[in-house]
Amino acid sequence: MTGFNVSSGPLKYDTEFAKEIYALENGRHIKKCMQCGMCEVSCATRKEMDYSPRKMFLLMRTGQREEFFNSNTMWMCSTCLMCKARCPRGIPIVDVMHDLKCYAISEGYTERPQATFYQAFWTEIWNRGKMFEGGLVARYYLKRGWKEIRKDAFEMKDFGMDMMKHGRIPLKPPKSIKGLQDVHKIVEKAKAQLQKGEDR
Ligand code: SF4
Ligand code: SF4
Repeated sequence: MTGFNVSSGPLKYDTEFAKEIYALENGRHIKKCMQCGMCEVSCATRKEMDYSPRKMFLLMRTGQREEFFNSNTMWMCSTCLMCKARCPRGIPIVDVMHDLKCYAISEGYTERPQATFYQAFWTEIWNRGKMFEGGLVARYYLKRGWKEIRKDAFEMKDFGMDMMKHGRIPLKPPKSIKGLQDVHKIVEKAKAQLQKGEDR
């Protein structure tokens, strides 16, 4: 996956940025961070991240919007839950990470492959209530483009063939789950409640 350069110019501080983040579903928890570094030393994918979760919290609190959005940290979170289990302040860091990814996408930061993948994944689940791997792969690569298809087709051909052999990438879409409309209603209701700030 291609990396992004973290901006090397003068830092810009956006005083409204922290407020935007605090307004996210789990954003308020960030205020509790005491910068102890436990998440940093526990993180399974820290070595792949531009900034540790601890440093990322600091970027948000100090209003470094561009530095934050241009870093790969949230996208490299593997949701292993280690940080959440160990944070002495009980901060649900992995839930914050989910919120941040959604927020980044809603703000138009969709260039990363992980953002494309999440969007394709969600669309598949929304359409049928269950995953259709063939649709996921098609959606992902249609968005990523021909260059990426050629690169991944070469690098992942053995893995892909194995998955197909074991029926893990079916070509025919499965039937939708029963009650899909009800699931949609639940999701829409949850979204509306979130927008109104209920259940916080
Ligand atoms: S472990 Fe919790 S309190 Fe410590 S730096 Fe990480 S988020 Fe902050
Ligand atoms: S959940 Fe994400 S941020 Fe937390 S330790 Fe695991 S990979 Fe790191």
